[in-house]
Amino acid sequence: MEKRTITVTSPLLPSLEEFIPLLKDIWKRKWLTNNGHYHQELEKALCEYLGVKYLSLFTNGTLPLITALQALRITGEVITTPYSFVATTHALWWNGIKPVFVDVDSNTGNINPDKIEAAITPRTTAILPVHVYGNPCDVERIKKIADTYGLKVIYDAAHAFGVKINEKSILEYGNLSTLSFHATKVYNTIEGGALICNSAEEKQHIDYLKNFGFAGETTVVAPGINSKMDEVRAAYGLLNLKQVDAAIAKRQHIVQLYQDGLAETKGIRLLKDMDGIRHNHAYFPIFINEKEYGMDRDSLYEKMKSQNIFGRRYFYPLISNFATYRGLESAYPDNLPIANQLANEVICLPIYAGLEDEDVKSIIKIIAR
Ligand SMILES: *Cc1c(COP(=O)(O)O)cnc(C)c1O
Repeated sequence: MEKRTITVTSPLLPSLEEFIPLLKDIWKRKWLTNNGHYHQELEKALCEYLGVKYLSLFTNGTLPLITALQALRITGEVITTPYSFVATTHALWWNGIKPVFVDVDSNTGNINPDKIEAAITPRTTAILPVHVYGNPCDVERIKKIADTYGLKVIYDAAHAFGVKINEKSILEYGNLSTLSFHATKVYNTIEGGALICNSAEEKQHIDYLKNFGFAGETTVVAPGINSKMDEVRAAYGLLNLKQVDAAIAKRQHIVQLYQDGLAETKGIRLLKDMDGIRHNHAYFPIFINEKEYGMDRDSLYEKMKSQNIFGRRYFYPLISNFATYRGLESAYPDNLPIANQLANEVICLPIYAGLEDEDVKSIIKIIAR
């Protein structure tokens, strides 16, 4: 029998039986994009599900980052984290902004608030943190620093769909937050994303920006971009929203299996669930201490691969170690010891709603000692 291949993630798919009638309806309406029926319905449904007031849909999760920086007219330098997906820093670069990397907290992988103040200069205008693996940043500390120094805060919340802090949406912190609905994320619209803001006026401006800056048939109010979500993806997104809670519950169950199965293994560190948080279990990272485990991360990664288990080294290499950014002063590894350590120790294990218990158990068997 051929051995099953297990990848780190597998997309949450709506049922075709339910999708086809919606496609037929879109064909009948002949309105394919530009704030159509399903686009409006999905914006409403997401606001309700996520517990936010103002959300604009986008074609992916990178354009809301680029657009957020435009919306707030961010310039100069922005303090950010190297422990993320490259899109976070690329968004700054595409706006002609200099990224300033600061180190992360080893308990969460999130930007370390203790390190932010030392990185502020007269050119600093904002902070761009990431809620890594869906674990909330220290939002209160970051707010205090931002308020003190007059900085804006944009959260890359690409991993944090549905995450809440004491019942409050994580997306309500900071000036703006962005989401990704890429096929690999907890909730997907194939490609897609969103920008969450705090007022109707801000949403109006963001909606102008994502449609070339058009504020009417003949009026352009800003150098906008095109990042509108189309009707087919919006309809797909409406269907997927109905099953995302069940998918998160299944992820929670897998997390429990991993935690029970790996707790006793020396040299494998797991992240702790945080108090008062509604987690989405977007990822399940483990960190391998070579000395204690008796094998380095890459050897374990290859060993898993040889048995058809494809984990992912999120995030490796660090953004600050890519050719584009490594020349920046703040990118030197000496400035980022914890981020470099996490990048060298991490493997994200397979986790998705369709993963079977026996698959999880076989993965544990390969890793546990
Ligand atoms: C996925 C992701 C993005 C980019 O989202 P896309 O929808 O792929 O453009 C941005 N930031 C982080 C942290 C991500 O994981």
